[in-house]
Amino acid sequence: MNGSHRPHDDPVPVVIVGAGPVGVTAATLLGQYGVECLVLDRWDGVYHQPRAVHLDDEIYRILVRLGIGEQFAAVTRPTSGLQLLDRNHRVFAVFDRRSTHGRHGHPQANLFDQPELEHLLRTNLKDQTTVSLRGNVEVTDVAQDGQGRVLVDFTDRLTGEQESVLATYVLGCDGANSVVRTAIGSTMEDLEFEQRWLVIDVASPVELEQWEGVHQVCDPDRAATYMRIGDTRYRWEFRLLDGETAADFESIETLQPLIRPWIEGISCDQLELVRVAEYTFRAQLADRWRDRNLFLLGEPPT
Ligand SMILES: Cc1cc2nc3c(=O)[nH]c(=O)nc-3n(C[C@H](O)[C@H](O)[C@H](O)COP(=O)(O)OP(=O)(O)OC[C@H]3O[C@@H](n4cnc5c(N)ncnc54)[C@H](O)[C@@H]3O)c2cc1C
Repeated sequence: MNGSHRPHDDPVPVVIVGAGPVGVTAATLLGQYGVECLVLDRWDGVYHQPRAVHLDDEIYRILVRLGIGEQFAAVTRPTSGLQLLDRNHRVFAVFDRRSTHGRHGHPQANLFDQPELEHLLRTNLKDQTTVSLRGNVEVTDVAQDGQGRVLVDFTDRLTGEQESVLATYVLGCDGANSVVRTAIGSTMEDLEFEQRWLVIDVASPVELEQWEGVHQVCDPDRAATYMRIGDTRYRWEFRLLDGETAADFESIETLQPLIRPWIEGISCDQLELVRVAEYTFRAQLADRWRDRNLFLLGEPPT
């Protein structure tokens, strides 16, 4: 099924804008119910950079329902929980999450690599015969006609051609700068929390020999987070100080003063920097998640 080849006045039951983890999950679930749907995304494949790293047992249950429970188990790392440390790295609280069968029947805390999860989701989506995914298209507008139909305009990024498809329902799974949110007319409630953090992904064959859970360093001068994501992958996050940017930390050498407490005895050439990014945490809430046949899902819009 390709929505853009249907008769102009025959709507696709569901068009999903965005093929991130939320869009592909929604498409798979709709496909399992036999609902026809077209997923549109601006990129041809999975965005390759690491981003989210943790999911809980409730999300794990959804992955099992999608049909990728076993595949996910092979790439995830259940973790021991969370420990809080003071600025001298003395532990003062532990939240134990070692139970392998929480309320939802799965480990309660699971670390993973987002691109790896997205590859599993997309491969699994191919089993759904009522769903098609079209990449390399930029959705430019979403407009309801007042008669229960939605016109979705998009541009083919390879040819530059403008196209449109008629839909009965549109799911906005299009991340932080959502076209669908704009069409719904949501405004944001600002809960007044905003912090800039440095996010660091490192690959190393060396065992760092740390407690196998999330370390949260509660240092008011430099809050920090550390966790092991996979057999050879590690994540650190540090709150940025005023005037600092990610550009100040673009090599293992410049990062060493920050990560030193976890890498004692390990030389820098055994650590490969995978990604350094600045990430701003914001507490904001959309006031509307639906307008008639348009729905907003996924990434909290900022
Ligand atoms: C550096 C970094 C670190 C992060 N760390 C964490 C973490 O530790 N834990 C955590 O929970 N989350 C983390 N996140 C956030 C996490 O990545 C997102 O919450 C998650 O990807 C949201 O999934 P989603 O499917 O809702 O949206 P997205 O993954 O943003 O997917 C949206 C999709 O929509 C497509 N799209 C958008 N607009 C259009 C358009 N107009 N036309 C066509 N396609 C469009 C995009 O190409 C994209 O594929 C991090 C993010 C970053 C950048």
